[in-house]
Amino acid sequence: MFRFIKPILIILVIALAATASLMQFQKTRCDEPLYYSIGEFDERFGVSLDKFKGLLLETEEVWEEPIARQLFSYDPQAAFKINLIYDERQQRTVEEKKLREKITVSDSSYSALELEYTTLNDQYEARLLRHEAEVGYWNSRGGAPREDYNRLRDEQIELAIMANKLRALADRLNELVERHNLTVSTYNQKFNVARIFDQGQYDGQEINIYQFEELSDLRLVLAHEFGHALNLEHVENPKSVMYYLMKEQETGNLVITHEDLNALKLECELN
Ligand SMILES: [Zn+2]
Repeated sequence: MFRFIKPILIILVIALAATASLMQFQKTRCDEPLYYSIGEFDERFGVSLDKFKGLLLETEEVWEEPIARQLFSYDPQAAFKINLIYDERQQRTVEEKKLREKITVSDSSYSALELEYTTLNDQYEARLLRHEAEVGYWNSRGGAPREDYNRLRDEQIELAIMANKLRALADRLNELVERHNLTVSTYNQKFNVARIFDQGQYDGQEINIYQFEELSDLRLVLAHEFGHALNLEHVENPKSVMYYLMKEQETGNLVITHEDLNALKLECELN
């Protein structure tokens, strides 16, 4: 009989260990803050380290404030890194901004030239009408006196000069339109797409940030990746921080949506 006791004891020990590790596993991500530090930091993004730290604090609050818990904490020694990595993605952002500015400029020079054209064209048409009426009048009378004839002939020359100027303006306008449209179509092909959250990435060990335009953009990307670091998946509302596209979120005043909050509460077992 004694021989049977030993294996049972061993099984008991194993079972206890399994229970303990299971309990450990069941602790939610929200029970302890995620300690993070800043790893790679590239100054070509044009953000100072202090500014970046401040932004990280703001981002923490996006998630922490709604449930009044400390979920993240900056610790220079922490193994979990947040990296700012400058590569072709950010270069592309810079390129996009330049092209967008170019479009704005060509748009306003078109407007200015168009105004010049229509103003001159209005003057031309009014003068031409008056001129033709007067010529018609004199012709119906069999001809104009010399003085009027000379004046009308001078006017004809002036009208021809105006017409030439109008044609030249129209040519310039068309050239501008062509170039503008080409730039716009290049822009649309290259850049006019809703951005999937690939500006940032969370891989379980660290968060990498690759691309942003404004600081408010950066905060949204950080908040999204922080969400993933809290184990949150994507949610369906386009205004949500955890929506898979960066599109309709209010980046200026970033707050989580109902859907974000529900996902967080579920993860933290706060329901
Ligand atoms: Zn995502």
